[in-house]
Amino acid sequence: MTVCVVGGGPAGMMAAIEAAGYNDKVMLFEQNEKLGKKLFLTGKGRCNLTNACSVEELFANIATNRKFLFSAFYGFDNSETIRFFNDRGLETKVERGLRVFPVSDHSSDVIKILRRELERKNVEVYLNTKVTKLLTDEISGSISGVIIKHDNKTKQITADKVIMATGGMSYPLTGSDGSGFGLVEALGIEVKTCEPSLVPFTCNDKDITCMQGLTLKNVGLCVSKDDKMLYSGFGELLFTHFGISGPLVLTASTCIRQSDYRKGLKAFIDLKSALSFEELDRRILRDFEESRNKNFSNSLNKLLPAKMITAVIKKTGIPADKKVNSITKEERNILCRILKSFEIKIDGNRGFDEAIITRGGVGVSDIVPSTMESRKIKGLFFAGEMIDTDALTGGFNLQIAWSTGHLAGRSR
Ligand SMILES: Cc1cc2nc3c(=O)[nH]c(=O)nc-3n(C[C@H](O)[C@H](O)[C@H](O)COP(=O)(O)OP(=O)(O)OC[C@H]3O[C@@H](n4cnc5c(N)ncnc54)[C@H](O)[C@@H]3O)c2cc1C
Repeated sequence: MTVCVVGGGPAGMMAAIEAAGYNDKVMLFEQNEKLGKKLFLTGKGRCNLTNACSVEELFANIATNRKFLFSAFYGFDNSETIRFFNDRGLETKVERGLRVFPVSDHSSDVIKILRRELERKNVEVYLNTKVTKLLTDEISGSISGVIIKHDNKTKQITADKVIMATGGMSYPLTGSDGSGFGLVEALGIEVKTCEPSLVPFTCNDKDITCMQGLTLKNVGLCVSKDDKMLYSGFGELLFTHFGISGPLVLTASTCIRQSDYRKGLKAFIDLKSALSFEELDRRILRDFEESRNKNFSNSLNKLLPAKMITAVIKKTGIPADKKVNSITKEERNILCRILKSFEIKIDGNRGFDEAIITRGGVGVSDIVPSTMESRKIKGLFFAGEMIDTDALTGGFNLQIAWSTGHLAGRSR
């Protein structure tokens, strides 16, 4: 059997390695000059290759189309991923949140293992080679090959099986430019609208953007649209020159559709999540006691990071130079409310250029979950981010790539 794998990212490499285990002739086509360009960037260059959680937790961290991944995960789960790399000489370590990294802290070592395995399994790797068309047999309708473009020359390759692993649309400079979606759409396969996800929020408010560089740990975050709660969580948030980012914001973005980024989308930060409203009020009273004769603006430095004080004061409407001893109970209430629910108007996100993943892709109803084969075109398989399934941060998106790649590779 001749197998063509389209895309040399984690899903494509895993699929090719697995397919080659069945004595098939396997060809892997990658349009970049090297394999795993995005994989190299993962985990800030350290590659959070999976998560050492239980299988239940693995499923719980899938944001879209969890059930679709049952066969893929049960066939090759996170412990299999760790074993796969350990057995081939990559030592791994487990960090905060059970995130798994190579001991070396180098994503390049993960890529090295995969490249070596491709070589050992005699996979033919074609770099700088873009697949420009998928071919089907006129009579049976099943897949019959691909057309590739290399050095401005096109060539037809005959194949019995084609695995599409061309990724999503985020970080397009890494090669994930969405071109694979066009190839499958041309065969009548449905592609669900692609949207950036795990993506920072933008906010066109100087009072917010001037806090750039400030990190808030252990804060609560709610995101709502027209008073409907879309997300509520707890963690770390970062102010940037364009708005807000950090793990909490990226997670929140998985609950927001592109159409929500219009008027009325708001984030509320609970700056004092460990304290109830009443406890916070008592705490402020104590602070105010100590600063009775100071200006309001000079009384908040124990309560807030310096970069936030001006923005909070502005929101309270209390004059910055008002003496603390003349602040009324009502004014203190307003301050408490703002600290428990600091409002930020969100006007958009940073788009595919800065999104960690793409939501959307080949519809799961068009794919057989136990094989990853297309229901419409026999011999056509899918793996990785190009499928309409995605997960939270923590190594789960790469686990989707390994698991679906492994299943697509071994399915006949
Ligand atoms: C900055 C960043 C950090 C991340 N960190 C993590 C992390 O630490 N842990 C985690 O789990 N996930 C992480 N992710 C997500 C993870 O990288 C992706 O989910 C994963 O790379 C998807 O793998 P894939 O093989 O499906 O697609 P990709 O990695 O996108 O690979 C697809 C490949 O297909 C090639 N291709 C596309 N079209 C064609 C064509 N027509 N012909 C030939 N080749 C083609 C592309 O050039 C590309 O190399 C991160 C993502 C980003 C952007």
